[in-house]
Amino acid sequence: MNTFHTLLERNQQFAAQQSAADQHSPSLPDALPHVKAIILGCADMRVDPAHVLGIQPGEAVVMRNIGGRVTPGLLAQLGMLGRIGQVAGKVPGGGGEFHIVVLQHTDCGITRLANDSAMLTDYFEVQQTELEAKAVTDPHAAVAADVAALRETPGLPPDWLLSGLVYDVATGLVKTVVAPSPVAA
Ligand SMILES: [Zn+2]
Repeated sequence: MNTFHTLLERNQQFAAQQSAADQHSPSLPDALPHVKAIILGCADMRVDPAHVLGIQPGEAVVMRNIGGRVTPGLLAQLGMLGRIGQVAGKVPGGGGEFHIVVLQHTDCGITRLANDSAMLTDYFEVQQTELEAKAVTDPHAAVAADVAALRETPGLPPDWLLSGLVYDVATGLVKTVVAPSPVAA
């Protein structure tokens, strides 16, 4: 039994559980009305928001990249996501209770790229002189910088809430680095 077959077998168990659950409550035809947050997180396998924050299916859009960083590529995807919502006629967040949460973590692999400035300047699309402000070796400073970058991003609904967390891989606890406040705060 290799990894691929194990994954397919787990999927069959998952689908069987889903179909059993559907007999008690109707399946969600569209998750959008239930979505409460966008979580930006790191691709590291230890920091899956579904595990760390207990995100349930349909509750949040989870976008993961190296470091859980706000990059031009990430912002482009956020823009596409917003457009998808518009096309569907459903932009979430009415009532000011929609969150964008930046979730980074200790012992992140991106810190090991600190000396690879060419790769990092390419990733962030910045000049060498601007790299220090990205704080790749300090997740607390990086979360604060990325929440600040989101606040400056045109087009985000002003009543969406922005916050920043750092997950400690040693303790399993998240620490609030930036408490939730509206984009327009
Ligand atoms: Zn990481």
